[in-house]
Amino acid sequence: MRTKIVAGNWKMNNDKEQSKKLIKSLKKSIKKMPLKNTRVIVAPTFVNLSSSVKKAKKSKIEVVAQNMHQATNGAYTGEISGDMLKAIGVETVILGHSERRTYFGETDEKLAEKVNTVLEKGMETIFCFGELLEDRKSDNHFAVVESQLKNALFHLEAKDWKSIILAYEPVWAIGTGETASPAQAQEMHAFIRSIIEKKYNAKVAEQVSILYGGSVKPTNAEEIFSKPDVDGGLIGGAALHVDDFTAIIAAI
Ligand code: PGA
Repeated sequence: MRTKIVAGNWKMNNDKEQSKKLIKSLKKSIKKMPLKNTRVIVAPTFVNLSSSVKKAKKSKIEVVAQNMHQATNGAYTGEISGDMLKAIGVETVILGHSERRTYFGETDEKLAEKVNTVLEKGMETIFCFGELLEDRKSDNHFAVVESQLKNALFHLEAKDWKSIILAYEPVWAIGTGETASPAQAQEMHAFIRSIIEKKYNAKVAEQVSILYGGSVKPTNAEEIFSKPDVDGGLIGGAALHVDDFTAIIAAI
């Protein structure tokens, strides 16, 4: 059985006190949930990771980073390395979010290097990818997603996939209020699994958790999560409100 995951990407929101408060409320609201085979993840900003890790201790909440640099250390002003994350108890990192690709010029090739570092350091990644609206309109969405995965991940060996969580996030659905329909999400997730099976084998394809991201809300989570190839969600806006995020977790 694949692991189910609900992950909240806080982006550049929540200061130290807000982060701690949100984790405290979330801890309380999910305490009684069975959460069998389910991971609950939050991704605060770098400066609030350490205090968030402490706050999340003795709970089911895992704290992860939103990005990292591929180098171990050195002259990279303003960057954070994997070792630095591990030193404060952060073992998982989101990579390739569309905002990183769009505003910070992250390419598939750069992301391949970051993924390599994640594996070298024994970390895990939630790897994001997805097509633009124009790609979907021109019916190129499958080709775009396939090339993103090929370029950034298909150099990996089968065993490496234990450390990879995929997050399909159609860019046109992120923060727009527009969601891929559950059928569109399922169609793409099944496609992703099929190309992984072709490249590797059925075991790798069956084991990898594929999250959907893009305007997931309490009102649509259950239907999206009910699809057989959707193993959870990467949540932006709705993860900032404890009631909404809790309702989404309850929908898994
Ligand atoms: P959203 O963001 O839920 O606000 O659309 C999703 C994401 O960017 O991961």
